[in-house]
Amino acid sequence: MKPQRLLLHICCAPDATVAFVKLKERFEVEGLFYNPNIFPEEEYRKRCSAARDLAEAWSFSLHEGPYDWESWKALTRGYENVDEGGERCQLCIAHNLRQTAVFAKALGFGWFSTSLFTSRKKDLRMIESLGYRIGKETSVQFYYEPFRRAGGFDESVRHSRELGLYRQTYCGCPYSAQGANSNGPSGSTRAG
Ligand code: SF4
Repeated sequence: MKPQRLLLHICCAPDATVAFVKLKERFEVEGLFYNPNIFPEEEYRKRCSAARDLAEAWSFSLHEGPYDWESWKALTRGYENVDEGGERCQLCIAHNLRQTAVFAKALGFGWFSTSLFTSRKKDLRMIESLGYRIGKETSVQFYYEPFRRAGGFDESVRHSRELGLYRQTYCGCPYSAQGANSNGPSGSTRAG
């Protein structure tokens, strides 16, 4: 039987490694780099380039969304000072997942998921519930798997080192960068 097609939202290349390995056991997987939350643009380009490196190394198709930073900024206006993990992150992640689902539908994928499930800093329940809700609204099936568990996060670090992938030190938006700078690089806050 032909495997079902899944579009993986890639928040960053390191997180996508283990997600891709696990997903390809049951799906035909392609990636989407859509992360308008990343600032500045130079940083966005670095992360996008790392996603291209991974896609090339592991031979999968990578789609790229637009870098619409101004729209993202407008979407999260008023939430700049909210702690990481709060309402701003919900708006941000819901936006990226929705765009992934819309893109998946337009390209005929039956499923979508996100590499955010690899990150140790992310609220899996929150993302899972957003994903299922958006899946229902867009009629594209959402796939949940806690990629970081059972040694998944360590595996992503190992793959990233082997492939020499760029690894960022803050989640993505300027507000998360401020937090990272004041606390020192975390090396594990990666998300889209
Ligand atoms: S901290 Fe990360 S998830 Fe939260 S709003 Fe910023 S970029 Fe998005």
